[in-house]
Amino acid sequence: MNIIIIGSGIAGVTFAEKFRTLSPEAEITLLTKENYGYYSRPMLSRGFSQDDIEQLIIIKSFDKLRKQNIRVLENVTVTALDKAVQTVHIQGIKAIETLDYDRLIIATGSAAFIPPPFRPYCDSFYLFNSLHDLIELRQLRKRILHEKKRAMKWGIIGGGLIGCEVASDLAVSGDKVSLLHAEDRLMERQLVAEDSLKLLAVMQSHSIDVKFQQAIQTIEKAGDQTSVISNDGHFEFDAVIVSCGFKPRIDLAEQVGLETQRGIRVNQTLQTSDKHIFALGDVAELPDSKLYAYILPIRHQALWLAAYLSAQETASWQPPAFSAVAKVHGFKADYPYVF
Ligand SMILES: Cc1cc2nc3c(=O)[nH]c(=O)nc-3n(C[C@H](O)[C@H](O)[C@H](O)COP(=O)(O)OP(=O)(O)OC[C@H]3O[C@@H](n4cnc5c(N)ncnc54)[C@H](O)[C@@H]3O)c2cc1C
Repeated sequence: MNIIIIGSGIAGVTFAEKFRTLSPEAEITLLTKENYGYYSRPMLSRGFSQDDIEQLIIIKSFDKLRKQNIRVLENVTVTALDKAVQTVHIQGIKAIETLDYDRLIIATGSAAFIPPPFRPYCDSFYLFNSLHDLIELRQLRKRILHEKKRAMKWGIIGGGLIGCEVASDLAVSGDKVSLLHAEDRLMERQLVAEDSLKLLAVMQSHSIDVKFQQAIQTIEKAGDQTSVISNDGHFEFDAVIVSCGFKPRIDLAEQVGLETQRGIRVNQTLQTSDKHIFALGDVAELPDSKLYAYILPIRHQALWLAAYLSAQETASWQPPAFSAVAKVHGFKADYPYVF
């Protein structure tokens, strides 16, 4: 069997490695835009407080995967699929290439979600979703510290899980942080009200200035200064990060007419509306309309799918019990997180 996997996050890499062990004869090709290797996205949240993060975060180099007889094409973007003839088109450094598959695994993950009113200001703010983003922000922080000889002033827009994590990591690293949140409590989707209050107290103990019920009107950058105007006033920062959730990368699936909703719709065997194409990880939307966008269930999906496609599993995928945990310095919820 000739398997192509798009994406080198936990979904794509876990699947590739497990499928390799269960199906020694298969041809496995992993296509990825990345060139750093396979890294831990959860560790991004410690990206400022941990000095040697660029090394620590890499779980496995692509060369190590190649030694496991997995063909890895890095620095390439899959630009189109043709499900009638079962091919993918890739654009790399050199040219466009076409590759055939018997089974295609879409594990393209998710990008940061940018709320529509913010889109005209895209050049004025940063996102925090990948190792590339972290490296860019670390370089910026280093430069500002060097040139201005003072702690950096950050505006974080969004008080969800990742916004709180990055705000707390910057604050414990010595920077000044304001968190502007649209709602009236932090992490309102994951935490009960009591835990949101507890989280607020922890954030404030790190000197984070949390502002609720902020309707952002403009975000404008001029040189090293970014101004944010909200219903509540005018704020000035050295840099602004917008952290307002995630958006599954469904564009390839949409182009080729696979069923999509928020994610790529799959059945309980992770099969899309095309029988030769499967999806897993942040990009897959299960029949219960849920995206299981956390490490534990994604790993479980990937191991399960490798066994299923190697004819070693027949029962459908069932989500494991799991719970999310916010990696905010010094915070522990008293109640279970909501999923
Ligand atoms: C800051 C942060 C902290 C987090 N913390 C936690 C945590 O503590 N616990 C937890 O459970 N979860 C956490 N998550 C969520 C978790 O990291 C994700 O659910 C998980 O990494 C998703 O894995 P994935 O393989 O589906 O997608 P991704 O990791 O997004 O990987 C997708 C891959 O596909 C590649 N790709 C996409 N499109 C193309 C294309 N067209 N051509 C080629 N390659 C392509 C991308 O380059 C990437 O390599 C966190 C996420 C972030 C951003």
